[in-house]
This record gives sequence, structure tokens and C-alpha cells, in this order.
Amino acid sequence: MSPDHCSTDGGTEQLVEAQPETALDTARHQLVRAASQIDVDQNIVERLTHPRAVHEVTIPLRRDDGTVEVYQGYRVQHDNVRGPYKGGLRYHPHVSREESIGLAMWMTWKCAVVDLPFGGAKGGVNVDPKDLSDDETERLTRRFTNEIRNVIGPMTDIPAPDMGTSAQTMAWIMDTYSVQEAETSPGVVTGKPTSIGGSRGREEAPGRSVAIIGREALDYYERPIEETTVAVQGFGSVGANAARLLDDWGATVVAVSDVNGAAYDPDGLDTWAIPTHDVEPEAVTKHATEVLSNEELLELDVDLLIPAAVGNVITEANVSDVEANLIVEGANGPISFAADAILTDRGIPVVPDIIANAGGVTVSYFEWLQDINRRAWTLEEVQDELEEVMLTAWEAVRREREAHEVTWREAAYILALTRIAEAHESRGLWP
Ligand code: GLU
Repeated sequence: MSPDHCSTDGGTEQLVEAQPETALDTARHQLVRAASQIDVDQNIVERLTHPRAVHEVTIPLRRDDGTVEVYQGYRVQHDNVRGPYKGGLRYHPHVSREESIGLAMWMTWKCAVVDLPFGGAKGGVNVDPKDLSDDETERLTRRFTNEIRNVIGPMTDIPAPDMGTSAQTMAWIMDTYSVQEAETSPGVVTGKPTSIGGSRGREEAPGRSVAIIGREALDYYERPIEETTVAVQGFGSVGANAARLLDDWGATVVAVSDVNGAAYDPDGLDTWAIPTHDVEPEAVTKHATEVLSNEELLELDVDLLIPAAVGNVITEANVSDVEANLIVEGANGPISFAADAILTDRGIPVVPDIIANAGGVTVSYFEWLQDINRRAWTLEEVQDELEEVMLTAWEAVRREREAHEVTWREAAYILALTRIAEAHESRGLWP
């Protein structure tokens, strides 16, 4: 037994307090909690506690200096009862089997909340992309694609960008897969460049949905957006697009951050003047008159807090310092299960990731439709359809929240689980 674990009398293992909650711990706790609130077949819940498949591969990479390094790659396929597996690939040193399973589970719920005909998957490589040259990233991506080639495909499992991967990464995957299939297969990945079947509006879609859901949540709590202060952790594609849209719609964005810290102005920042991570990486604090730490940003007394950087940033250790009136999750899993319960006790509503940032996978779905039909949509069509999907999902979650008198997160889970359980019941278990 590892020293981080202790055994209870019942013989089951219990995590000691020092052990941080993993994405998988959080995802499983959330599932069990939602399942306890509705009448759902426990056999289906048991099925959903485990992924359908975990593909683990090793990826040898020839570095530019001729040495070879070997990385671990994962593709976890959680559930596909409602359609092909769908979800991102991340390049990050923390990528692991456990994290990929937790994130794949969240994708299953996310697709169901916005009612897409997809299941959930996730994966990635345990590499720091900042350590690689462009050529090395391309070689790593092509070799990884080769290793998971037999388990992905336009009708089976469709990867997309996530932390540390980009439209270019998707282009290499699409090309490698297409060359091996001897046909052009744009539908094998989403989040591609528009020149090869990517969708207009895909890049900004997760941030746009966070802003739409933030706007609806403020409206629900009768807070006029023009009188709202907002703090956003992270200024990548999710955080920057959410901050800029809310800024455009009249909110006062008082703080945004990257890994180096936060730019802060109580009178409101010009979010368009701060370069996004893609344009100039890690430049937020260079453009600041006042700099705060990321921890201080999370403690600001604002109307709306959007953690849109990485997972597990609000935990038992800092949750009592959170002063925001409302939290909308931009990143996947930014709040631990334990911290979430404390926020509920403190009366701070949290709108969960599985609805708030679902705009990314929603526009991925639009991209997949465009690829299959070989017909591109206009940006206006994409934005109008996204708005409709998000508002429909918001209404459905709101109804569940009121019907069951639960939190926003529990309501989103209840909606997702009900839809997934219905599909499992209809299809049955074979044999
Ligand atoms: N990686 C994104 C997410 O976590 C998008 C997934 C997709 O488009 O398939 O939602």
C-alpha cells in the first residue's frame, strides 16, 4: 500500500487529506451524487462508473538532437451509447490514465447536457509542449496518431483540441489518418483549420458558450450585466473569448490572468488590448498597471468569477477565501468535489463546466456535420445555432434545478444521466 493511503476497518482504502482529489475522484463522486437524486437503474450507474476502454500507448520521439525520448499516450473511451466517442487530446506533463478517465466521463455528460449525438472520450500525451520544437511536435503527433489509429475514426471516436494542442495538431492527425486510409477524412477530428474542413467559430466557441451561460446566470439572479464585475482566470481560448464577449456586452472585467499572474484594474480592463495566449504567450502581466497573483484573483470580491485555466484550482485549501457571488466554470473540473460542497453551504452558486464550456464540443459537432456533408456554414449560422443549443440546454438545466431543488451542477448531471440512462435502457445490454 502506498504511504498516501490508509486502510479503514472495512478494508476499503481511504484517501488521507494530503492527497489531492484527482479528476477521476471528482467525476465519480459527482456521478454517485447525481444518481442518488433520481430514480435510475443502479446497474447503468455501475456501468458508467467505468470507461468502456482505455488505450495506453508508448510514443518514441526522435528529438532534434538525435536522441530518442519515450512518452505515454492515452485515449480513454468512456461511453458511446448516444453516438461516437468525442473529446479532446491534451499535451501536458500531468496527463495520466486516471486524469484521462475522469475527463472522458465529463465529456459523456457534457455531450448529453447539450443533447449532441456523441459519447465521451479524452486522451493525450504526458509531454510539456513548451519543451518541443514544431518539428518534434509534428513527429510526436503523427506517431501518436498511428498508435491510436485503429480506435479513432469519423464514426467511432473523434478527437479535438484541448490543453496544449491546437488546430495545427488536429491537421497533422487528420493528415496522418487520411494518408493511411488512402482517402481524405476530415471528420476524424474537429477543431481543424478551416482550409481543411474546420468550422468557422470553433476556436472561440468554448469561450462564447461560457459568456452566454454567464449572461444567462446573471440574468437569472437579476444582476444587470452592465453593473457586473468579472474576474477570469486564464487568458487562452476559453478565458480570453469569454472575457472579451462579456466586456462587449457591458460587464466590467476587473481581472484576467495567465500563468505569471493577473492584470487587475477595479475600473475595468480593456480586454481587447491584452494579447491572448495564441498571439503572445504569457504576456498578460506585461500589459498590467496592477498585478495580482492567481490565488488573489480567485479571492476577488466580484459578481462573477470564471476559472478558465486548469483543473482543481478551487479546493478545500482556498475555498473559504472565495468571495465571488457567482462562479461559472470555464476550465474542466476547476473546483474539487469537497470545495464544491463548501461553496454550496456558503450559498455561492456554481454553474458547472459540463454546460458552461460545452460550446466547444457543440461547434465540434457542427464541424463534423459540415465535414460529412462537405458544406461549410457561415460564421453567423454557427453562432446562431450555438446560441440556440446553449439556451435550450440552459432552460433544461434550470427546469431540473427547480424540479429537484438541487444545485446547478446536480441539475446538469441529472439531465445528462437521465438522457444517457434512457439510451442504455432502450439499447439494452448485449448479450
Ligand atoms: N476539449 C474540449 C472540451 O473539453 C472540446 C472537445 C471536443 O470538441 O470534442 O470540451
